[in-house]
Amino acid sequence: TMATFKLENVEDLYEIGEVLGSGHFGQVREVRERTTGQRWAGKFLKVRRGAGSWLGVERKNVEKEVEVLQSLQHPNIMALRDVFESKAEVVLIVELISGGELFDFIAEKESLSESEGIDFLKQILHGVSYMHSKNIGHFDLKPENIMLSARGEPLPDIKIIDFGMAHHFIQGEEYKSMGGTPQYIAPEVINYEPLGTATDMWSIGVITYILLSGLSPFQGNTDEETLRNIVDMIYEFDDHHFRRTSTMAKDFIQQLLVKDQIKRMTADESLLHPWIKPLTRTQVANRNHSSINMKNFKKFNAKRKWKMSYNMVFACNRLFRLQLLCKHSTLEDQELVSCLGKTRHCSSRGQYRPYSEAWWWQ
Ligand code: ATP
Repeated sequence: TMATFKLENVEDLYEIGEVLGSGHFGQVREVRERTTGQRWAGKFLKVRRGAGSWLGVERKNVEKEVEVLQSLQHPNIMALRDVFESKAEVVLIVELISGGELFDFIAEKESLSESEGIDFLKQILHGVSYMHSKNIGHFDLKPENIMLSARGEPLPDIKIIDFGMAHHFIQGEEYKSMGGTPQYIAPEVINYEPLGTATDMWSIGVITYILLSGLSPFQGNTDEETLRNIVDMIYEFDDHHFRRTSTMAKDFIQQLLVKDQIKRMTADESLLHPWIKPLTRTQVANRNHSSINMKNFKKFNAKRKWKMSYNMVFACNRLFRLQLLCKHSTLEDQELVSCLGKTRHCSSRGQYRPYSEAWWWQ
């Protein structure tokens, strides 16, 4: 059975505004609801038309993403409002998230204590714990997919986005998938073993490690090396970069970067870890005296943004060559123009998925 989405023209109900970001299969734009004036975001997905076509997302994958979003209602997860479809496109109308990426927000700060970092991490864990309680795994948790509701507030809300790789587990089902970004994926993904909600917890371990030190735990000189480091569990807490990190924080990470999924800390357990929920006064004091290695974090983030735009240019060049190669190209001029347009302001808005990294893997 094929899910049906609203067949009305989305533009009859929403006014389409500026581009907010882009992903593999299309753009995310700001939209305004005509009747109420309310602002939303529209995720425009090009849907693959025939089996022979290789651009665009498969309709069944869009249905999967929609089904997942429909079953999730939580303040820390991007909300879905409506879905429209035309012949070539599906448009998801979702909550507008205007605070940018969490990592960019943090990188602009002068300093950050562990406690302040934990305020954000806790929200991520609340969202993930909720998602996991619904038997849904995200499978693409990484800094690019952790955004903030708004800027200007002292403590903006975390919003988890991009459920394009998410999976809703049916009881007893074995689910395998290869996908994700090398730096953040768990060993079971690389080994093509059955995945579980624990797979997300590994990624949270990696994200926390980076947040505290500005170092990526398994990063090698090549993707192959990174993947080997993950499978071999080669990582350490470098004395220099972790000199202001509390022992509890390191313990938290160590409970997540565990090879055996069964032994890995769950989202609920992690919310009860003393680093997140201190029980004694000493534990509270430890957190307050420890801080994030801001200098190195800024460096990591700048490099990450640079890599994202580099990958975007790389992806566009590849698309361009493809266009030249294929006489009966399915690529529309408009698509190419928009892609080339993107590369121009890549460095100023780094909202682009690292295409090459993901492509390498898929
Ligand atoms: P990917 O290729 O990474 O899977 P995608 O096509 O699934 O991408 P998203 O990652 O959901 O698309 O969105 C792409 C970008 O658009 C995000 O990185 C983000 O910058 C921006 N974006 C996504 N959702 C929203 C939103 N609700 N509000 C504002 N901006 C958003």
